Amino acid sequence: MLEPLLRKNLPRLQHFYDRAPGPARHLLTSARGWVLTRLRYSRETFAILDGLRGHESWNSGQVADHQLRGLRRTISHALDSVPFYADYPRVELRSFDDLKRLPVIDREHILGNQDRLLSRTVPAGRRIRAGTTGTTGASLRVAYSENLARHNWAFLLRQWAWAGVAPREPRVTFQGPRVVPAQRNEPPYWAYNVPERQVLMSIFHLSGRTAPSYLDFLRRHCGEVLEGFPSVLGILADFAIEAGVGIPMRAIFTSGEPLYPHLRAKIERVFGAGVFDSYGMTEYCGLVQECERGQMHLAPEYGFLEILDEDGSPTKPGREGYFVWTGFLNDAMPLIRYRIGDRGRWQDGGPCACGRTFPLVVPTITRESDILRCPDGRLFSARALNQLLKQSNSFRCCQFIHDRPNRVVVRAVPRGAFQNGQTADDLMQIRSDLQDLLGSSMQVAAELAIDPLSRLGGKIPLIVSEVATP
Ligand SMILES: [Zn+2]
Repeated sequence: MLEPLLRKNLPRLQHFYDRAPGPARHLLTSARGWVLTRLRYSRETFAILDGLRGHESWNSGQVADHQLRGLRRTISHALDSVPFYADYPRVELRSFDDLKRLPVIDREHILGNQDRLLSRTVPAGRRIRAGTTGTTGASLRVAYSENLARHNWAFLLRQWAWAGVAPREPRVTFQGPRVVPAQRNEPPYWAYNVPERQVLMSIFHLSGRTAPSYLDFLRRHCGEVLEGFPSVLGILADFAIEAGVGIPMRAIFTSGEPLYPHLRAKIERVFGAGVFDSYGMTEYCGLVQECERGQMHLAPEYGFLEILDEDGSPTKPGREGYFVWTGFLNDAMPLIRYRIGDRGRWQDGGPCACGRTFPLVVPTITRESDILRCPDGRLFSARALNQLLKQSNSFRCCQFIHDRPNRVVVRAVPRGAFQNGQTADDLMQIRSDLQDLLGSSMQVAAELAIDPLSRLGGKIPLIVSEVATP
């Protein structure tokens, strides 16, 4: 029950946290960790994990049976308890083909029906709400339950097991939480989550000047598990290469962004361990995880995946199409045939050498983005700035344009009318958050636009740098 309450008050708690003295921040981070630990390492979570590990010996028939049952259960739960699906036809699912009789929905459907998509079976006090920004920098509010959080962690632990990593092994994490106030300019750029034996590193303080502190800290933690966003681990790897050091870690887990081959090679070289990548989303309707043989497996217990072309027909193996997910686990906000905006393909060829028959998928999300390089030397990855957009849902798209050496423009494309008070408030909030983060060496402006800036092939980068890199 604590997690829904914490999530609801996160912006206010962040304000309090940023003003707390250093030791208190470690204590608060650990307190937060303790709440999460109770979900992540509960008896129920380990029981789920046991089940999941047992499924690794399934043959393809057992995988298909499980998926068909999952679809039936999810659709019947959604139609019975979620207002949005009240008018859906009662389809009897005899085979996967029958699913085609239900419509495909997308992010716009969720945005327009954020409350009508909530299930009556999960009371408001038990819903955990979270923001997600997807591939276009537009925010979406989703809901899930503690039960889902436990399942989610069990899947993560299963992938750790593939990497030979046991639960609660010490780890160093480079992800989104703002664990250190923006204006801090001396170490520590990290906070300790003692119950989980985890160090949360700030991804908002990376610069040539702070690089030695980060590298020293990592060296003291060498041999531990390293996890983070690919672009951030890439920045760290560059620091290490420049300093001429290698820092061997136990294993590396990446998520949240595309992991390009050159980035993987660099990260693996510097940190002396294999990368285990994964693809998931805050809507919690599907999961793809890399095994020890380097292949990306669909987690068949998490959700059902269709890959469809522009006309809504299934693609052939090897051909790229849109991911359309039906999630099995999120009772609080079930999504049926949800076209999330990411793309990928079924992998051609035989079964994986790891022996698991879980289908092989290659996500080909290509959210290319520049890195924001501030005049004071700080570096911000797309995922770092993305964090600023999670609280607002007025925009169809939001980008950061670095147009002069010391100026960034927040360029937002509103969802509705330009003359909307909420739109203006949200834009000013993002501008002010970014100004706080970047400090006085950077001037932050904001503007509304009709269309996003796109690059060749229609890709919409989050950060657009028009400034020559030094
Ligand atoms: Zn495999």
